[in-house]
Amino acid sequence: MITPAMIDSFALFSDRLKLAFQRMDAAYQKAAAHYDFHCSGCEDNCCRTRFHHHTLLEFIYIFKGFEELSAAKRKDIRQKAEAVCSESLESEKHGETIRLMCPLNEKGLCLLYDYRPMICRLHGISHEIHRPDGQVLYGPGCDVFMNIAEKQKNVNFDRTPFYKEIAMLEKAFREKTGNSQGVKMTVSQMLIHFF
Ligand code: SF4
Repeated sequence: MITPAMIDSFALFSDRLKLAFQRMDAAYQKAAAHYDFHCSGCEDNCCRTRFHHHTLLEFIYIFKGFEELSAAKRKDIRQKAEAVCSESLESEKHGETIRLMCPLNEKGLCLLYDYRPMICRLHGISHEIHRPDGQVLYGPGCDVFMNIAEKQKNVNFDRTPFYKEIAMLEKAFREKTGNSQGVKMTVSQMLIHFF
């Protein structure tokens, strides 16, 4: 799914993607500081949530991080990813959604923290999204956040500029690479494509 030509083209976009992620992280940290919200040691770990990711840029960025790991670690992660994918598939056959730990989570920490996708960066804090038709969608935070936020003034954390920036970058990348394939993948599904 990822070709050498796509990886070459990614080099033209990686700095802009990193900057977009830096802006995202800074805004998230500001909002988290407002609520005094800290994400650590949570029982209901969001790395068990079956997030889907939708851009080739995030897919390739995870691959770039994965390449930096040792061969033994990559093998271990791939085995975990294969197990997660097959268990998820089995549960889907029975109409169930199970929560399985992301293969990149080791002892509560993300092995590819700097390379993690957008949703991993934004999850936790309640947010709003302004759609092009003017409708505003509101999303709750995680359970830990909701307990804390009850006592705080809402800062209306707006994900819209971050979604827009990543979508624009992805559009430019697809135009550059002539790629129109849709992406809807979990991190585990991405990892089983790597070697
Ligand atoms: S990529 Fe990292 S932050 Fe995202 S779910 Fe996996 S372990 Fe958690």
